[in-house]
Amino acid sequence: MKTLTLDIVTPNGSVYKEDDVEIVVLQTTAGEMGVMYGHIPTVAPLKIGHIKVTKDGKSDYIAVTEGFAEVRQEKVNILVQAAESAEDIDLERAKSAKERATFYLDDDADDTDHKRASRALKRAENRIEVAKYK
Ligand code: ATP
Repeated sequence: MKTLTLDIVTPNGSVYKEDDVEIVVLQTTAGEMGVMYGHIPTVAPLKIGHIKVTKDGKSDYIAVTEGFAEVRQEKVNILVQAAESAEDIDLERAKSAKERATFYLDDDADDTDHKRASRALKRAENRIEVAKYK
């Protein structure tokens, strides 16, 4: 079976690189997309969510923020602001971030940046979800 290379890149550089991947499942803004070797080249916008990577029949889950996936025949490049494997997620930190964001969203002060707080809440809730796959 022909396989893929997956590379997840953030502004800090490559944070996850794996060869011999059988299937990558992406959460794009248009829905879930499974990618195997030989996929038609495409670029897809990603929403805050997880990437599921299956290799040797075992799956890894990686939490990602919004970004893009570049799919090529033999390679998937993921470009995101931040990404963490389930086992690298600091659950307490994510819970505090969720509390902070919820506090800002409940605050009616005019200068509260609700869009920013709402994105921070999504990131925190996503990390809490993905940490369950540790
Ligand atoms: P926080 O308020 O806790 O910093 P955030 O959503 O604002 O959360 P980001 O801006 O998305 O954080 O990420 C900043 C950096 O911190 C990235 O390198 C990201 O991988 C890392 N990071 C953020 N939250 C966690 C977490 N709960 N566990 C591990 N790494 C995290």
